[in-house]
Amino acid sequence: MERSFDERAQSVLANLQTIRMRINEACSICGRSPDEITLMAVTKTVPAEVIQVALDAGVTVMGENRVQEFLGKRDALQLANTDVHLIGHLQTNKVKQIVGTVSTIQSVDSLRLAEKIAEESCKQGVVTNVLVEVNVGDELSKSGVSLSEAESLLRQIAPLSGIRVSGLMCIPPIAHTSEEKRQNFSLMHQLFIDIRGKNIDNVYMDILSMGMSDDYFEAILEGATLIRVGSALFGHRT
Ligand SMILES: *Cc1c(COP(=O)(O)O)cnc(C)c1O
Repeated sequence: MERSFDERAQSVLANLQTIRMRINEACSICGRSPDEITLMAVTKTVPAEVIQVALDAGVTVMGENRVQEFLGKRDALQLANTDVHLIGHLQTNKVKQIVGTVSTIQSVDSLRLAEKIAEESCKQGVVTNVLVEVNVGDELSKSGVSLSEAESLLRQIAPLSGIRVSGLMCIPPIAHTSEEKRQNFSLMHQLFIDIRGKNIDNVYMDILSMGMSDDYFEAILEGATLIRVGSALFGHRT
């Protein structure tokens, strides 16, 4: 049976409380401040009125996967205090539609895509933050550059006007144990710190976006600054 809006809203609020508790718990284990962690609500397939519950409860960042889906929901949301990121794979022919409607595109994995985003941002007089997506497990099914290619892509896109290179993002392979989960996050954190240490012009390592519903706890232990949580907040997607 379809759940009522009120029931769904209540469960989002309860889930949010649980997630915040776990963020605090992870932070206390590794000696970080919860202020260092940004909780992103991942809103694919979630109706606007349910998303709004999370935003009204203090979630400040939302992530959408698909351009069309976001543009379809946007007018039904109050986004004045919300930072919106695109987190899904972006085709170059959709760049025009999305630039100017989101602050950040987390899924940049080619020079060509970065150039398109930069060009369109300049045209619109905006600066779009971009993260380089790293395919940390070298999986054929996933987009992203390999760990070893990341720095060279960052160096190529850094000089482009209209974008600000703000960090790294990854979707790691499915892992079952806590240890397995932490391994890939640890590799990402090392890369993040290495690149930060190189002080490359126009490359800002502000955001390390990693950790989803099943592994955000481990991601925080390994240095994530932004976690992307969907189903643990809104319930399973249908
Ligand atoms: C769907 C999605 C998430 C959230 O996944 P959950 O497991 O539901 O938390 C995070 N990041 C990306 C890129 C996604 O596509």
